[in-house]
Amino acid sequence: MSRMRVLVLGRQGAGKGTQCVRLARRLGVPHISTGDVLRAAVRAGSELGRQATSFMEAGQLVPDELILGVVADRLQEPDAREGFVLDGFPRNLAQGQALVSMLGDDAIDAAVDIDVPNDVVIRRIASRRVCGDCASISVAPDPAVPAMACACGGRAVQRTDDTEFAVSRRLAIYEEQTRPLVHWLSSLDLLVTVDGTGSPDQVETRIVDALRLAVAPAAEASGELVS
Ligand code: AMP
Repeated sequence: MSRMRVLVLGRQGAGKGTQCVRLARRLGVPHISTGDVLRAAVRAGSELGRQATSFMEAGQLVPDELILGVVADRLQEPDAREGFVLDGFPRNLAQGQALVSMLGDDAIDAAVDIDVPNDVVIRRIASRRVCGDCASISVAPDPAVPAMACACGGRAVQRTDDTEFAVSRRLAIYEEQTRPLVHWLSSLDLLVTVDGTGSPDQVETRIVDALRLAVAPAAEASGELVS
């Protein structure tokens, strides 16, 4: 099976997490979310979590040296050799370049940018609740309701970095730091931009179609992007 290494970019609330889970399942590769790794480290009270927590709560990026170590370790695990869906990494040009030097010039098959207008992501984030047990996302029927039951029986609450202040900080960081990375990936001919509005199924179909076109020879030959 030929490998597929896919990066998924998008502002907070663009639906990255949901789409990465679906894409990784479809491709049979691990879904690696740096945000999930960091949140698990914070919950576990590890050294990594201790160092990351104040940056995360302020809606800032954690320092590159911290995140690069996390990603380098994870990508060396056997299940990531055939491919991966990277969610939330890279976030800036330096991280993108570090990824290429870590893995080589042909490190990435495609980068998917899920594009959703600002007003839509702000609305989505106000209603986003994350389960403390299984980490899945629920949508609160009313944004004023802080917590709700998750289907797994756990309790879904608002993320500590989904406050209004942290959200506007993260949107500004996307423009300042992630946008140059997006342009760089585009100059390398790796970028596919997908409309992220509509239902998760609609967005998934757009992503799969766009990836089929972008990586057609490798993926179609091995039947990886089967529906
Ligand atoms: P996410 O779940 O991807 O929105 O990430 C949540 C938070 O984790 C971000 O706001 C950052 O504080 C931190 N984080 C996740 N990925 C990275 C990254 N690649 N570089 C720096 N900080 C990150």
